[in-house]
Order: sequence, then C-alpha cells, then structure tokens
Amino acid sequence: MKTIIEKVDKAQLNSEEGIRVIERAGEILRKGGLAAFPTETVYGLGADGLNEEAAEKIYAAKGRPSDNPLIIHITDMESLKKIAKNIPETAVRIAEKYWPGPLTMIFEKTDAVPYGTTGGLDTVAVRMPCDETAAAVIRAGGGFIAAPSANTSGRPSPTEAQHVKEDLEGRIDMIVDSGPVDIGVESTILDMTTVPPMILRPGAVTKEMLEELVGEICVDRAIIAPDSKKRPKAPGMKYRHYAPRAELSIVEGEAETVISVINEMAAQKASEGFKVGIISTDETLERYKAGIVKSIGTRMDEATIANHLYGILREFDDERADCIFSEAFPTEGIGSAIMNRLLKAAGYRVIRV
Ligand code: AMP
Ligand code: MG
Repeated sequence: MKTIIEKVDKAQLNSEEGIRVIERAGEILRKGGLAAFPTETVYGLGADGLNEEAAEKIYAAKGRPSDNPLIIHITDMESLKKIAKNIPETAVRIAEKYWPGPLTMIFEKTDAVPYGTTGGLDTVAVRMPCDETAAAVIRAGGGFIAAPSANTSGRPSPTEAQHVKEDLEGRIDMIVDSGPVDIGVESTILDMTTVPPMILRPGAVTKEMLEELVGEICVDRAIIAPDSKKRPKAPGMKYRHYAPRAELSIVEGEAETVISVINEMAAQKASEGFKVGIISTDETLERYKAGIVKSIGTRMDEATIANHLYGILREFDDERADCIFSEAFPTEGIGSAIMNRLLKAAGYRVIRV
C-alpha cells in the first residue's frame, strides 16, 4: 500500500489547499480506510469507529492486541448521545469545562458502537480533541473516528508526522502532517461508569483539576503501583508500552546524588563498550560527562518535559543507544503522566539512590 503524506497548515484549514487535504483524509475514512492525523496529545491513527471492519484494520496496522479498546473521537455533544448512554450529570459538567481537550471519558456504550471498536467491552471511551486539524479530519470522516496513537504497538507514541511515517508507512492510506503536537503525552482517561469517577491513565487534565470541579476522583491503583497484581482497568495499560529499543533505567533520589550515580553508571557501561544515553534537564545538561547527553526540557516548566518525552526516546533509538539513564520527575500535575509513561518505557526499572 502506498501511503499518501500531505502537509496542512493548522492556520490555513479553510484555504483551498487545506480543504482539499482534509477532504482527501475524510474520504479515506468514510470509505473504511486508515488516515493518521495530529491531535493536541499525540498523532492518532484514525478509522471510522462505527464501522467494525475499518476499526479492525487499526489493530492489524499497529500490531495492537485485539483486547485493547479504541477511543472514539467526536467534535460535538450531540454525537456523544449516539454512542454513549446513561451519561452522568458530572460528565456533562466535566465536558463543559475540559472538552474539547486532552481528556477521554468512559461511558456505557450504545448499540451504534461495534464490539470491534471496544475490544468486546460494553463501555466506550470518548474524546473530543481541541486540535483544529483533528476536528476537521473527524468531521470530514463522518464524526466518529476511532484513533489510538499512530505508532507500532509498543513503540513510543508519535509526536510528529515523521514518527508515524517511521512506524506505519506502507501500512496505512494517509498521513496528515500539521507539524509537532502541543502536549506530547496521551489523554487522561476517566472512567465515568463508577462513583466516584476513576482515572485509568494520567494525562494533561490532572486529578487536581478534576477534583476542583466535581469533588472526589480516585485513581486506578494498578497504574501507580507497578508491582501490584491487580489488572489495570484500561486494558491497554497492562502492556509494556512506549518502549525505546535501549534498556532504560530511571534514577531517583536527591539531585546531586542522582547526577553522580548516573555519571558513575554511564562511565562503567561505556567502558564495557555499550553506547550510553542520558536523559537530563536544561538545569543538569552540563553536569554529565559520559555518553550521549540530551535535555528533555526544563524543570521550571514541566509541560516542556511531557512534550519532548517520546521524541527523545526515539532519538536515542536512532542513535542506537544500548542503555539509557534518566532523571526522575515529581508526580504532581502533569508530572504524574510523565512518570507513568517513563516508568512504563523503563519496564519499571528504577534505581533509588
Ligand atoms: P491509545 O488510543 O493508544 O491512547 O490507547 C487507548 C487507551 O484507552 C488504552 O489504554 C485502552 O485500554 C483504553 N480504553 C479504551 N476504551 C476503554 C474502555 N472502554 N474501558 C477502559 N479503557 C479503555
Ligand atoms: Mg497508544
């Protein structure tokens, strides 16, 4: 299969060229094909979420386990009623504040949603993205677009079109390229079928933000405690995800100790002939002496860290690093999403110093 790759400027979606590109993606989706497009979180791999056969193509293209359900992306509240039922009043309040945005909510599904989209579950995950290109593609594609991250299952999620190309060229019909994404980690997943609602995956809409709006929110223990025997409630969270090819270790502790321990371990590994990568921050970049040192962003603004996380893991893959040492990050706010993804990428390998 030849993959069409087209650029579109987010600010020019209504130009003749913008309309042409979006319509091309929309037509592919309406006919049951696969088109990748940017959202504010990561690039998504879209298919018509109400067409079972189309949604199933996503699993094949990504090599995604078939019990891992897809999120359906919509652009208005009317559409929500077609795919979800027993929508609690709390969800409507949350939607008023955080939709469109980087938040997915889980509801009981209606018969309009095929089991091929929900991995056999009676619930459906729904998101209304705020990225303008995403909204335009979803509308053009019929309004109900199943779109998991547009990477090969198990690889770091794509934050620019080039990442999608690396993983999926030849396996999908089209990639719509609107440049790098804004946030860089996947949406918060909030299960609205329980009281209180439960966070199944941390993201940019944080527990604190949701609690301020609607009161108590709980968090699926299985996503915080890696050694817990509990199955995570979001089926996808059990897989080793987001992984670079190198062995990644997270070094956690007091800042100065972390720097000296990483320096020691990196020097040791380098002397054994391994190619070593170090994930530092702007604040510590100059302090590392061995290996390939990259800054993931600044601790003064953690959004920059979320934004560079997957890209930096892919860069180390490109440089054929054998092992990577990373600093750890505090888990407040967006930090909880950063550490959740980093821990999964590391297979929960944490060195406490
Ligand atoms: P991705 O689209 O790659 O960000 O993955 C979607 C995530 O949403 C996976 O972790 C899924 O397991 C989760 N998910 C989707 N639908 C449901 C659902 N109905 N119940 C629980 N988790 C879900
Ligand atoms: Mg994914």
